[in-house]
Amino acid sequence: MPGYEWFGAEERKEVNDVLETGILMRYGFDAQRKGMWKSKELEKEICSYFGCEYAQLVSSGTAALTTAMAALGIGYGDEVIMPTFTFVASFEAVLSVGAIPVLTDVDESLTLDPKAVERNITPRTKMIMPVHMCGSMSYMDELKAICQKHNLILLEDACQSIGGTYKGKHLGTIGDAGTFSFDFVKIMTCGEGGVVMTNNKDVFIKSDGYSDHGHDHLGVDRGADLHPFIGYNFRISELHAAVGLAQIKRLDKVLEVQRSRHKQLKNALSDVNGLSFRIVPDESGDTCSFLSFFFETEAQTQKFVALCSEAKLPGIFYWYNNNWHYIRKWDHLKNAVLLNKFPPETIEKVKQIVNAPFPQSDAVMSRCVSTPINLGWTDEQFAERCAKLKELAAEAVK
Ligand SMILES: *Cc1c(COP(=O)(O)O)cnc(C)c1O
Repeated sequence: MPGYEWFGAEERKEVNDVLETGILMRYGFDAQRKGMWKSKELEKEICSYFGCEYAQLVSSGTAALTTAMAALGIGYGDEVIMPTFTFVASFEAVLSVGAIPVLTDVDESLTLDPKAVERNITPRTKMIMPVHMCGSMSYMDELKAICQKHNLILLEDACQSIGGTYKGKHLGTIGDAGTFSFDFVKIMTCGEGGVVMTNNKDVFIKSDGYSDHGHDHLGVDRGADLHPFIGYNFRISELHAAVGLAQIKRLDKVLEVQRSRHKQLKNALSDVNGLSFRIVPDESGDTCSFLSFFFETEAQTQKFVALCSEAKLPGIFYWYNNNWHYIRKWDHLKNAVLLNKFPPETIEKVKQIVNAPFPQSDAVMSRCVSTPINLGWTDEQFAERCAKLKELAAEAVK
């Protein structure tokens, strides 16, 4: 999966371009930077590769979500519908703007179940935030229809699905805005970084200003900029953007290898009795950075995970037991352990939502295992891995 597995001369060249000028900041210093604008260049590449009008690079995927929410006007009292299975950054960002994360069931797509979304809509619902988890996508047509029907904003957390598509459109470019993360373990990396993508000029201009202290970037230098609103600092550095410029050029090849290995592993596991695979709303758009599959029972799944651990097989993700990705172990959220003061009614509402039982999500996640499709393995190592996974899965269902 991760871009860091392919890292080399191209990345070094781009970073050295920046080191040679010594201008590590993305704004200003026009004369000294000798024409090097790595962040601007990467934003242009992102627009053209993924097919969006505007892209604003920021310092992380979490910062991208926060920036997008601020630009979309999400805040105090607003409810944001998001899945029970995601990375903690999704609810961190919602809380960071003062809104309420309304945790909502997933189905075997490992993403928001549109029926559960409908059930959770209240007069305070302002936005739906699907998370395209583990390289594949949410039911975008259904979610878009719900947004239209109830007049809601749609923000795609596509941090884990860079390069994936849904009915021909890139994930992250379908909603009112979308985000990628370029952290070290994502499909494409900048070391750290993220981007807000949108086709809405107003959302872009606000994202551009918000991520740099509210600067309007219209002055002749930073000192001459006006500040139409209060912002924050979520800037990316030129060094990080430089890495991304090399990485985006590798993306086609990354996706090609992931897809062929994914097919190989899926074929191998298809023979195992009772094993089923994640629902993918548009198979042709899967980035194939993970293969996710289900056993018929939780007991079989636990057995498989134990067998893999005994065999010292790396890369077996049983999200149900993992404290980063699934609501079951988010104790800090359930107890609303916040360092700074929040409105008491926000805290009470959050606690009430996240401490409710989620039997539908549990039934899905307790039987699910995901395994990353790495690029670093040789073909031989990968074939061996496929055979081993098949053997252990067959033993688990015996
Ligand atoms: C990685 C990730 C993020 C946050 O990205 P960072 O760049 O690590 O801040 C947000 N959402 C999801 C689903 C992610 O996987």
